[in-house]
Amino acid sequence: MTDSKKLISVIETIAQVMHENKEFLTELDSAIGDSDHGINLDRGFQAVSEKLKSLESSNVDDILKAIGMTLISTVGGASGPLYGTAFLKAATVVKGQTNIDAQNFINMLKEAIDGIQYRGKAHRGEKTMLDSLIPAYETLADEYKRSKDFVSAMEKAITSAAAGVEYTKHIIATKGRASYLGERSLTHQDPGATSAMLLLRAILNSL
Ligand code: ADP
Ligand code: MG
Ligand code: MG
Repeated sequence: MTDSKKLISVIETIAQVMHENKEFLTELDSAIGDSDHGINLDRGFQAVSEKLKSLESSNVDDILKAIGMTLISTVGGASGPLYGTAFLKAATVVKGQTNIDAQNFINMLKEAIDGIQYRGKAHRGEKTMLDSLIPAYETLADEYKRSKDFVSAMEKAITSAAAGVEYTKHIIATKGRASYLGERSLTHQDPGATSAMLLLRAILNSL
């Protein structure tokens, strides 16, 4: 499905989407955080973009590892180590491979989520990126198992991610900076859940 060259073009699309949504994500973070989520991710993915140029002949796991390390060292904030860990864990699924197939991708998303949970100690319903990632993963795994049609399973997964983003407006943050606000975090959409949904949508759109 996706070789190293294609993986690099998918990541470039993600970088572009983060750049286009820099202000939007930062505005979401200004309501319940410290107004930097879009700035953080744009900085991180621009650095990733730079690095990718030298990685075209690498295995897919080396590319994913380089992305993870770059995000950890350049993003800062809570989201840097969490997204960085997600890519590092995803890399372990495709160790030594030159291609990523649909089932690999589904397993990578599962590993990424487990890594985020191990690192950030959050669960679903705490108003974080997990509130879009977990429902997206569940839909993707179920739909792909049923239909074996990856594109249509991803479309449905993104609908689930968007519903997860919507759901974050109705819950109180209990992890990260937004948790300092307690009940005042209600009604606001979580920036990290939003960026995770945008990331998944960018992957679908670049397939
Ligand atoms: P910071 O809060 O350090 O400024 P960012 O603004 O870049 O970092 O990222 C904030 C986002 O990180 C939140 O919207 C939330 O989705 C996510 N987040 C924060 N803490 C956790 C956690 N423990 N587990 C998962 N996601 C988290
Ligand atoms: Mg922030
Ligand atoms: Mg910050």
